[in-house]
Amino acid sequence: MAKIQKIAVFTSGGDSPGMNAAIRSVVRTCAYLEVDCVGIYHGYEGMIEGNFKAMDARSVNNIINKGGTILKSARSVEFRTAEGRKKAYKQLKAEGIDAFIVIGGDGSFTGAMIFNQEYNFPVIGIPGTIDNDIFGTTFTLGFDTALNTVVEAIDKIRDTASSHNRLFFVEVMGRDVGHIALNAGIGAGAEEILIPEENLGLDRLIESLRRSKESGKSSSIVIVAEGDKTGKNVFELKEYVEKHLPIYDVRVSVLGHMQRGGAPSCYDRVLASRMGVRAVEALLEGRTSLMVGIQDNKLILTPIDKAIKGHTKIDKELIRVSDIMTV
Ligand code: ATP
Repeated sequence: MAKIQKIAVFTSGGDSPGMNAAIRSVVRTCAYLEVDCVGIYHGYEGMIEGNFKAMDARSVNNIINKGGTILKSARSVEFRTAEGRKKAYKQLKAEGIDAFIVIGGDGSFTGAMIFNQEYNFPVIGIPGTIDNDIFGTTFTLGFDTALNTVVEAIDKIRDTASSHNRLFFVEVMGRDVGHIALNAGIGAGAEEILIPEENLGLDRLIESLRRSKESGKSSSIVIVAEGDKTGKNVFELKEYVEKHLPIYDVRVSVLGHMQRGGAPSCYDRVLASRMGVRAVEALLEGRTSLMVGIQDNKLILTPIDKAIKGHTKIDKELIRVSDIMTV
């Protein structure tokens, strides 16, 4: 493989806190190792359009603490086509770019993998998504920050819930996985946690809420992941509980996109800095089609196809802990 002299970096798919810290790390590692670095705006869309900007160590001043992504993110339909990817390749070559680092989720990695297979173009992925649903890493960038955001929001909801003896259903992100719901639920002291991986069943939910009331609790919080298996959304759950357990005054709160925003936590900043360094180093070692992840606090590289196809599992111990805490 030819020596890598110019590396591009971009963010793709849903944004997550920590993406800026990862961009900063890639740019500064390139500067440190005397490799040119180019930022691509708007993900694959910008790659197709040649929306590039040369980046040096000073281009990324004062962004480590910022949520979102200074390079913007996008979803590109055109990059899903061979024609679109051909345009992207021409743009990269015209700019003299030898390799790229994509910060995003499994869709973004799929695009990178296909591009690598078609053009033998070196690519490395950094997992940036709040859902923590990527195989090959215990933590994705943004997950820790999102947990803190959710816990802080629920703490506030709890204040009003306990002042009025209310039951709150709080919907959090997680269509396919319940990592946010389970972790934030334990952290915020939720009464019940409904996740896609487990079907608690409506009868058990009602029973649990009844017991909770009888045991003298004045308020309750139930965390519901978007993809929970009860077959009911939070508003339908509210109606169901009001009908079957009229002792409760029920309210709903959908946290929505606020979960993606905000300054990254220290953990996410450190993780992003470490992953950025490793991603650049991996490319310079001549490696490609890998994702940087973290396991047992050590950085590891996972083949990108495994990262895409593999599934993360919910930690059963957390479910047990949550059950015990709601005695
Ligand atoms: P999130 O976790 O937020 O959904 P993601 O990276 O999985 O992030 P996607 O929208 O699935 O987000 O993918 C981002 C972009 O990656 C797409 O808009 C598209 O440009 C590219 N991409 C996804 N799948 C493919 C594919 N099969 N072929 C080529 N490009 C793809």
